[in-house]
Amino acid sequence: MNVCKWLIARGSAMLIAPVLLMPGLLQAELAHTATETEIAQAQQQDEFAQWFEEFKISASDRQLYEFLYHMPKGGDLHNHLSGSAFPDWWYRAALDEAERGYEYYTKVRIQNCLALDEHSPPYMPYYLLYRNITALEYERLNECEKSEYKPLADLSPAEINAWQNSLRLDKPTEGRHEFFETHWQRLNALFRNPHLMAEMLYQNMRAFSQEGVLYLETQISVEGLQQPSGEFFSAEEVADIYRARLAQEDALATGVEVRFQLAILRFSRSAEEDLKRSYEFIHNNPDRWVAINMVGREDNDKGHPLRFLSTLRELRRKFFGVNLSIHAGEVDEPNHHVRDTLLLGAQRIGHGVNLISDPDTLLLMRNGPYLVEINLVSNLLLEYVSDYSQHPFPEYLRLGVPVALSTDDRGMWDSQITDEFFVAVKEYDLSWPELQQLHRNSLQYAFVSDAVKQTLLDQHQTATQAFSQSIMQMGLSDNAFGAAPSAFICRTYNLCEEPTEAI
Ligand SMILES: [Zn+2]
Repeated sequence: MNVCKWLIARGSAMLIAPVLLMPGLLQAELAHTATETEIAQAQQQDEFAQWFEEFKISASDRQLYEFLYHMPKGGDLHNHLSGSAFPDWWYRAALDEAERGYEYYTKVRIQNCLALDEHSPPYMPYYLLYRNITALEYERLNECEKSEYKPLADLSPAEINAWQNSLRLDKPTEGRHEFFETHWQRLNALFRNPHLMAEMLYQNMRAFSQEGVLYLETQISVEGLQQPSGEFFSAEEVADIYRARLAQEDALATGVEVRFQLAILRFSRSAEEDLKRSYEFIHNNPDRWVAINMVGREDNDKGHPLRFLSTLRELRRKFFGVNLSIHAGEVDEPNHHVRDTLLLGAQRIGHGVNLISDPDTLLLMRNGPYLVEINLVSNLLLEYVSDYSQHPFPEYLRLGVPVALSTDDRGMWDSQITDEFFVAVKEYDLSWPELQQLHRNSLQYAFVSDAVKQTLLDQHQTATQAFSQSIMQMGLSDNAFGAAPSAFICRTYNLCEEPTEAI
């Protein structure tokens, strides 16, 4: 080490002044100053951690929710774009698509137009109300079937309400089956319009920005998307539509950094071929496309993880720069899906609920390089846990398995990212340092360059410092914008009867 730098590093004040102007020393001096700032910030965070413990005891649920809504957050690493849009966003944006020539019809009644053996395949269920089709698909129906549909633009207020409810998982009788077998089948034509999807992306960015989220890594598809004429867009054309939407002023104003994962339907017959095309696409479009994910019910054995091992090994021989974040362990039975998915090369695991039943893999992941993306609201609504005392999240967190909280399909839960933190604090009494660890993990494990990652981490630290200082000085009420709890939280915690009080 250069002797002058050594002296500065040792804090020799007498010798610092004469050498300050020497090239190469400024950086060392700045590093020294930054350390003092860091110590002051750490002390302030310690004090705030103590404040938070007292706050949890004295605050009402409504005040806790308000606090968590405004708390600066990191990223949402597990997000399906089509499941993340709220039904009212879908409805308004679908009507706006008329400008581009997209018109939609939805099924409002069933007239038994088809004989049983004429019924369509399972992904086009005939007996499904509020299934959406394009004008082109409508024109191809027989007269009886046409009478079952109505233009989306002509729905009565009661029908609009029912249409929106058909995309929410909010009834005690609704669960995994309703989600996997009806919600996507209903959306149908809507998520085949890339312009509409790009608009849902913007709406998500706007809402996440209001909750203090800095980064969004969302799962999309760039294949199978269509023009009003039914002609398919190329993957590159779809990518350009997303790029153009992200470049618009309103999207930039949200300040949310966005990256995409491509989702492969794991049990599909063509999954290996889909994987190959998607892998190559990500390699060729590293500006925004960063990772592969595998989606679809994990209890369908056709999509078991090791099915993809040889294909991924072949792809790794050819391409660099493609990350893997894969759903695994979102299943009731104990099995080795998480271990097998790590063998596929996954850097992050989506859900990991049954990791708790695989002790060898759990030990492997303690203080390890693999992160589990935890989705508390999703796991309850899709019945992977019967209540929160069954969820392994606190065990992972406190054993040192890297974890972050994410939203999965929050549009269908009628939920937002604050809910994940609210559940975590309410059910598992998270401390302020634990909350901060979750935020940092959600940026540290993001699939972005080191430079972008550092910028996001710095942004989060600055925002957290300002947030905690402001609350310590002025209390929560002066910072609040009147955050409305989501319908999920209102239902689950009876939160909406309680008036907000100043602290
Ligand atoms: Zn998911």
